[in-house]
Amino acid sequence: MATILVVEDEHELAALIKRQLEGEGHQVLLAYDGQTALLLAAQSQPDVVILDWMLPGLDGLAVCRTLRARSIVPILMLTARDAEADRVLGLEVGADDYMTKPFSLRELMARVRAILRRVELLRRVDEASAGPLSLGALFIDPLARRVTVHGVELDLTVKEYDLLLILARHPGRSFSRAYLLDHVWGDEYEGGDRTVDTHIVRLRRKLGDVGERIATVWGVGYRLENG
Ligand code: CA
Repeated sequence: MATILVVEDEHELAALIKRQLEGEGHQVLLAYDGQTALLLAAQSQPDVVILDWMLPGLDGLAVCRTLRARSIVPILMLTARDAEADRVLGLEVGADDYMTKPFSLRELMARVRAILRRVELLRRVDEASAGPLSLGALFIDPLARRVTVHGVELDLTVKEYDLLLILARHPGRSFSRAYLLDHVWGDEYEGGDRTVDTHIVRLRRKLGDVGERIATVWGVGYRLENG
């Protein structure tokens, strides 16, 4: 089952939530303040965080913001505040869900189950998209970052590989140079659109006859034709 971090300074409520979650087979970590919560989260990589807003010292909002900057762990915020503005603020700093005190434990458990289902679904989508791609003579194994053409392994640079993977994941779809720059080079690029063009030229050459399937889309960018 899942590892769940419960951050709640009301000891009795924390214990109650812990018992309930353990009853469903989860492993539960308790933190009574924000600092401890951040420490535990870093150490044990929980699957879900249940986070009270009003905490001594570092409050739930600050904890939420910090957690979100470090990871994509789902966060369910608990609060005694019910103003819509607060709700919006909680969601804006990255909480995934929100419950107002007092709440029923049954509802809390239902929300946690819903979050875990979403996590599981996302994990499966991730795994599926990491699976090998076979497009005619072109074969890409993303986990190994291996590319073969007609069974012969290619020696691609990191950027050439990343470019190819984006094109190959969506054959037939056109990608603008700006999109490719953004997704392959991110912040590190200098030099602009030409950077994409020169890498595509090299990539085409290395791919041999498969390279001819990388089409230039005039005024836009590139597309990998279906084989
Ligand atoms: Ca509290």
